Amino acid sequence: MEYRFLSKKGIASFLTGLLKEFKVYGPIKKDGFPLYGEIASEKDINLFHTPTHLSPKQYLFPPKETLLKFKNGETPSIESVVEANDQILFGIHACDIHAIRLLDRVFSYRPSDINYIKRREKTVIVGIDCIPDKYCFCKGVNTMTVDSGFDLFLHPLISPNGKSNRINSDRKPANLGQDMSAGFLVEIGTQRGKELLRKHTKTRKTTVKEIRKIAESKNKKAELFTKSINAEPSSLPLIYSGSYNSPVWEKIGKICYGCGSCNNVCPTCYCFDVRDNIQANLTEGERYRVWDACLLEDFAKVAGGHNFRKTRGERLRHRFNRKFQYQVDKFGGLFCVGCGRCSRTCLVNINIVEVTNELIEESNKRS
Ligand code: SF4
Ligand code: SF4
Repeated sequence: MEYRFLSKKGIASFLTGLLKEFKVYGPIKKDGFPLYGEIASEKDINLFHTPTHLSPKQYLFPPKETLLKFKNGETPSIESVVEANDQILFGIHACDIHAIRLLDRVFSYRPSDINYIKRREKTVIVGIDCIPDKYCFCKGVNTMTVDSGFDLFLHPLISPNGKSNRINSDRKPANLGQDMSAGFLVEIGTQRGKELLRKHTKTRKTTVKEIRKIAESKNKKAELFTKSINAEPSSLPLIYSGSYNSPVWEKIGKICYGCGSCNNVCPTCYCFDVRDNIQANLTEGERYRVWDACLLEDFAKVAGGHNFRKTRGERLRHRFNRKFQYQVDKFGGLFCVGCGRCSRTCLVNINIVEVTNELIEESNKRS
């Protein structure tokens, strides 16, 4: 791995340079909460953010996008629509980079999805280390760190003094000030990333002491998790396959609202619906796709009003299995990256770690 040292001042000039060439999306604060948004100036970015409500998936797989436009009449035509611009996703956490790697596999699976692929090719990813909150459990699903899938990755160096520089396990956003970093060690992931860094800012060689700090920060971060899955990630598919008839599904199904928020915030949920919008003249229109959600009642409804997953318990079981069992065989990895967003957003506090641990406990009793 190659690293360069980048000062706090250097990161500001880096962003300013990138903004001249690219649309840049990164963590900003709105009403006191972190979310991903377009960056207009380097001052907008809030790099030391707590996990965002929505993931950066929206910039690769938008909630709604036109796929084709059509015209009828004397000369009928169909025109495919692929909107892909050069863009940078800046300040992306390791779990979300893992999620993007999973989406890459999904959307390149035959037949590959041209809209996603084109957008992905034009996307530069700059990752950054983060601090877990009480919902994060990436450590338990092996996504706490990432070694590929980014162009550059920023490892903040913590200043040796100053109150705001301490990693705070309370995880209140107000405690994560911009002063937390004394500069960054930039891990070079691709040649493209290296060239952008060279073009837009000044860096220097790193010292052995600085490189050691990356491991130290990783160890400190590992101690901050308050929730964890009580089994090895590799055992989860088997535990889930043995839990099909668990009473847990009916129990959580009784309190679930079926709102689909957990689907919407998940960085690895990728289901969509395709719809047509025909203009009143009936001669032209567009075909578009919108995110869909397997927790919604109509998701599995088919002709004749039949529904494969009538109850909320059945729908929750389906979603959880998509994360820990069904997708593993097909794409070779757990489809939960431990970001905690579904638990963070759920109005009735259905927590994916607690549910999984209940299933693990039941499984242990059975064996
Ligand atoms: S967010 Fe919670 S209440 Fe809404 S569908 Fe998901 S599990 Fe059910
Ligand atoms: S299932 Fe929940 S915790 Fe896992 S990746 Fe999706 S939103 Fe994150």
